[in-house]
Amino acid sequence: MNLEQSQQAFEAAKQIFPGGVNSPVRAFGAVGGTPRFIDRAKGAYLYDVDGNRYIDYVLSWGPMILGHAHDEVLQAVKDSVDKGTSYGAPSPLETRLGQLLKARLPYLERLRMVSSGTEATMSAIRLARGVTKRDKIIKFIGCYHGHSDAFLVAAGSGLATFGQPNSPGVPIGTAADTITLPYNDREALKACFEAHGQDIAGLIIEGIAGNMGLIPADEAFIKDCRELTRQYGALFILDEVMTGFRAHYGGAAAVYGIEPDLVCLGKVVGGGFPMAVFGGKKVYMDQIAPLGAVYQAGTLSGNPIAMTAGYETLSRLSPELFDQMEQQVKILCQGLRELAAKHQVPMQVVHRGTMFGFFFNDQPVRQFSDAAESDHDLFAKVHQGLLKRGIYLAPSQYEANFISAAHSPEDIEETLVAFDQVLGDCHG
Ligand SMILES: *Cc1c(COP(=O)(O)O)cnc(C)c1O
Repeated sequence: MNLEQSQQAFEAAKQIFPGGVNSPVRAFGAVGGTPRFIDRAKGAYLYDVDGNRYIDYVLSWGPMILGHAHDEVLQAVKDSVDKGTSYGAPSPLETRLGQLLKARLPYLERLRMVSSGTEATMSAIRLARGVTKRDKIIKFIGCYHGHSDAFLVAAGSGLATFGQPNSPGVPIGTAADTITLPYNDREALKACFEAHGQDIAGLIIEGIAGNMGLIPADEAFIKDCRELTRQYGALFILDEVMTGFRAHYGGAAAVYGIEPDLVCLGKVVGGGFPMAVFGGKKVYMDQIAPLGAVYQAGTLSGNPIAMTAGYETLSRLSPELFDQMEQQVKILCQGLRELAAKHQVPMQVVHRGTMFGFFFNDQPVRQFSDAAESDHDLFAKVHQGLLKRGIYLAPSQYEANFISAAHSPEDIEETLVAFDQVLGDCHG
């Protein structure tokens, strides 16, 4: 595989951007090798600047659920561009997408459009704090909620202690208001509410975690999250930036039959444009400016092109289409399990809806510390081997992978053939 152009592009980018990238994981630090510089994308495929084709299971980290450059979505976007690219004033396009979201996710009584998932989660916890007049929030180790200060926090020593910054630049005081707990640990959760319940403004969680690999919550655990927040007067914030319209047609909330107080959406809802949403119960959302005192704003919020792309994407995403994708994921994952057995590689394969992930681990992975014990060297080798064979997976075992409506049975078959060869090479 010729990578000359990507190598040159990477060298040039390093003279401009820290690490040559505009988001760290794109630098391929965890797997090594040259990050592919992309020229174009269509359907299930990415094409790099050297002309190599890849079956893409990253899909811009989730958004491209219909596949890249879907003809009808593109046409609608082009028509929208012709009508101007930003108004800074309300337009019916916002309401149209809002109505569609509300019809599909009934607990979304009121919502607000923002420009990134980071902005959505940051705004949701500000609202939780404003509503409850409390400062502490709970987050779970290994869950990712964007890069705002309150979430870049590592566990303190021992369980249910206050957090410490895990990035320079995050004030100790900010981190101290974030309590970090292990995922899927009901005892730690209960103990935390018993000790600090009166101070907790909100609990934020990925109902199906996709940022430490794919790790679904146990049903009893997430129901405890819902119950305990209710009992102690804290807000239950479900971060569905990744899982919304991905883990299930109705998101993680539908998988568990739970109703969040606030929900954050992103990725798929923007159809490949910078767009995200936070929303939920009217009693809380009405406390945001201009109705209420909790401030939140955005110059490009509700951008007409993003609104169009989101609407055109979601209106084409039917339960039937979702089921078809889910069937493909099941076939792929079943194939992976069979290959793991054939090559005697300890591998945990997990899928939910249109998402899948795997750990090179002989035990089921239930929380971040389990994921960390997986074989990362083997993952790096497998990733590189697959990439050489034109299969583009997320470049870290801590990331989930995705399928689109454009992935064909032949793409799945080609992927399994490549896995067979690569696992044979790595473990043979
Ligand atoms: C991607 C992601 C975010 C952050 O969204 P950005 O648009 O990258 O800021 C937040 N939460 C979850 C669960 C995510 O997967």
